[in-house]
Amino acid sequence: MTLVYTHENLTLVMNINVALQNAGIKTQIKNQFSAGGRGEIPCFETWPEVWVTSEFQLEQAKKIVASIMSQQQQPDWHCNNCNEDNGAAFDFCWQCDTAKPH
Ligand SMILES: [Zn+2]
Repeated sequence: MTLVYTHENLTLVMNINVALQNAGIKTQIKNQFSAGGRGEIPCFETWPEVWVTSEFQLEQAKKIVASIMSQQQQPDWHCNNCNEDNGAAFDFCWQCDTAKPH
């Protein structure tokens, strides 16, 4: 197994995981429930992680992760409905499902 992505924001990690699985890549999430528990500041060791279980799907997985990460480098957008900040890769507010304003 190979670690392909980790981030303190579980939503971003799950977004990567869904994209990989949609491409037919077998993945496993680690530390899914440890980040930010009990009001503590999550440290790097407890960030959720996406692992690719099959070595021969690794190159494809890395390309998908790279393409999503380049989208995430766009500025965050602000939800007008619930005032949540959302990553640029998201077309809908992760909290209230309102569509990204254009
Ligand atoms: Zn919202």
